[in-house]
Formats: sequence, C-alpha cells, structure tokens
Amino acid sequence: MGTLDRLFKLDDQVELDPYVVVSFLNSSEDEIRDMYERSTKIKPKIASSDDLVQFHKELKWVMETIWQKENLKKVEEFLSTKLNEMHHKVSIDDEGLFTQLRADEPILEAWLNIMTDSNLLYGSNSERKKVSKCEWCGKWLARKRSTRRFCSNQCRNMYYNIEKRKSRKSVKDKNFFTL
Ligand SMILES: [Zn+2]
Repeated sequence: MGTLDRLFKLDDQVELDPYVVVSFLNSSEDEIRDMYERSTKIKPKIASSDDLVQFHKELKWVMETIWQKENLKKVEEFLSTKLNEMHHKVSIDDEGLFTQLRADEPILEAWLNIMTDSNLLYGSNSERKKVSKCEWCGKWLARKRSTRRFCSNQCRNMYYNIEKRKSRKSVKDKNFFTL
C-alpha cells in the first residue's frame, strides 16, 4: 500500500498513521510527482501532481512553523481558511457505529484528518506528539509511544559523540580557567 493511498485514506483506514504522514513529509518534490504517476488510485481523485506538490509544501510549512513555535498566528489563519474552504463540502457520513466527517475533495479531507488529530499537529514536544524531528539531521520522524529523538542509530551516535566532545571540551576549558 503506497504512502499516498494511505495518506488520502483510499484503503478505508479510520486513523491517520503518523508513519504515513512522516514518509510524505520526508519526500522530495520529485518523489511526490513520481508517487503520483505510479498511483492508480490517486490520479482520478487528485487532478494533477501540482496539486499534490502544493499540498506537500503547505503541510511542511504548517508542521515546521508549529515545530518552531513561531508565527503560530499565521498557521491558525491558514488552517481556518482551509476550514472555510471545506465548510460547504463536508458531509457527515453515518456508517452504523462510526460517524465520520468527510470532505468531497481528497486534499481537503486530508487537511480535515490532520486538523482533527490534535496530537499530530499540536501535542507538546513531549510523549504525546506523534510527529517529531530528528535532533541530529532534522528529518521528520513518527513516534507511537516512546519519546523518540532520532531517526536512526547513526543520528543518535553522531549526536552523542558531539555532545561527549563538547562536554570534554568544556571540562578542559574549565581546567584551563581554574589553573
Ligand atoms: Zn536523523
């Protein structure tokens, strides 16, 4: 199952998987265009790969801005514009036990899913936040339970090696000054 099919819930999943969001965020523009070309399910639903690239840019901007905790007002404005856009396009789909909000357009529905999953967007940088950034290389990473800080063992090692060197250096500096 491809990232796009899962991001746009074309496989009938109920919850948005943070691993899927992260794999989309970490893709380059070329990779996204390639995914679009290869996905048979996405093409009839999303008019062009440009729409998808635009969505990718906007989502990255939103995630990055929230992560940096800067311009949060701008993000709020942006998201409320999105909500207004989908306002007349959202319907309530009553399927037995599940009542789901659905937007007609897949990209709007993806926004809706992202916005209604508060731990994806807004959870504090603690355990509850589902999407985080590698503290060494800056790549987006998903975490389900633990407080993952690095995308790979390699990044963890690099980070701690530098930290170790730094603390050794500061000990040395200290000795120098106290002598
Ligand atoms: Zn990393």
